[in-house]
Amino acid sequence: MKPLTMSFTGWKRFNTCAHQDYLYKLGKRPKSSDNRNFVKGSVLHELFESWMGLDTDPEWIIENVQVEWKKYLKKHTVMWKNDADEHENYAKAILWAERLVGMLNGLDLDKGRCQIEKYLEYMIEVDGRPVKMLGYVDVLLPTKSGGWTLLDWKFSENKQVMNPYQLVFYSLLLHKQGADEATDDGAFVFPALQKIFPFQVTQENRDWLLQDIERVCRLIFSGYNTPTENKDDCYFCDVKPFCIKQGGSLKSLGTGRVSIL
Ligand code: SF4
Repeated sequence: MKPLTMSFTGWKRFNTCAHQDYLYKLGKRPKSSDNRNFVKGSVLHELFESWMGLDTDPEWIIENVQVEWKKYLKKHTVMWKNDADEHENYAKAILWAERLVGMLNGLDLDKGRCQIEKYLEYMIEVDGRPVKMLGYVDVLLPTKSGGWTLLDWKFSENKQVMNPYQLVFYSLLLHKQGADEATDDGAFVFPALQKIFPFQVTQENRDWLLQDIERVCRLIFSGYNTPTENKDDCYFCDVKPFCIKQGGSLKSLGTGRVSIL
């Protein structure tokens, strides 16, 4: 039996709007959406990863923003509003790169022992059906006391993009895997704000999350896909055109019973 895949994003999406998650699983994603705000983060993420494999100063990141920016634009279609919009975003990428470098100099990373983009996976069974929980940790950072901290980059100026349950999700996977790096310590790193927001994960947090994931899986297995009652959730929904096409009124869609597996 093909397992149901459960990532942190999938779990969060279902809890925001079960119908949105259902449309995603049907592949109803927009061919093009407003990706202008993702360029800076993608470029800096890429540069950070490349730098981790090099024996050079963090300033290398700033020097290579332009090259990576061009590379990104060759591979992706970005819907800039106009030239000024692109220039403004590029200038911000440089500024964020400078701030990122400032933070990296302060962190004094032991590159040889850090792990980046670590893939985590753990299989569970819910009512006899397989569920594959998975995720990628941006950075696993060794601490001076011999333990580990998990870091998640947030290339944004908006603190609301931070959801502590993302760290609980990764901590849960590391603990369940019995990994040497299993840790209760995590942090969101905001280079744009030059701030680190640390979080301590408890066993209670992990237990709660696992129970909630099981609850979500049961609902998905039963075909539950009721649209959210909260219209604010619809504002940033990129499958809204499909949702409207199906039901006209978002609230009148009712509960569907279509099997997605
Ligand atoms: S538009 Fe609203 S109700 Fe429809 S899928 Fe998106 S979030 Fe859910």
